[in-house]
Amino acid sequence: MLKKFLPDQHVKDIFEITPELLKERNIKGIITDLDNTLVAWNEPDATEAITEWFDQMAQHGIKVSVVSNNDKKRVKHFTTPLNRPYIHRANKPLKTAFYKSLKEMQLKKEEVVVIGDQIMTDILGGNRSGFHTILVVPILQTDDKATKFNRKIERFILNKLEKRGWIEWQGKKK
Ligand SMILES: [Mg+2]
Repeated sequence: MLKKFLPDQHVKDIFEITPELLKERNIKGIITDLDNTLVAWNEPDATEAITEWFDQMAQHGIKVSVVSNNDKKRVKHFTTPLNRPYIHRANKPLKTAFYKSLKEMQLKKEEVVVIGDQIMTDILGGNRSGFHTILVVPILQTDDKATKFNRKIERFILNKLEKRGWIEWQGKKK
């Protein structure tokens, strides 16, 4: 049960995930979360660095799709300048949006990674749907109202994972 919350990989931030590393593992697509993964949850627009990250992926032929539990206004506003597909109100950790996104990308499950900052939604959902999952440290230590409760459970689960020596988490609050 606990293993369903365990990411396959964890990184400090999205910029550790490079096209070169992905291509080594034959990855051709990314399903990524938005809030606190790509930018802070209260930042409406992509930063220059994030725009460049998207461009780099495109140059290497890696498809990126934004799958967020946030509402249409937020997700559409963010992704439109990047010209990338998105799914809003994704209801992660349910599998539906992950499969929908995979279908749109026309890739195999093994060719796609799922990236996010939350164990309860991104990682659990990605794992249940059978993807390779990558946990990033949340950009901000604060969260929107909807996420605050999930974070409490997440702390509890991360502590358990750490106690078993399954993960050493850099995002832990001191
Ligand atoms: Mg998030």
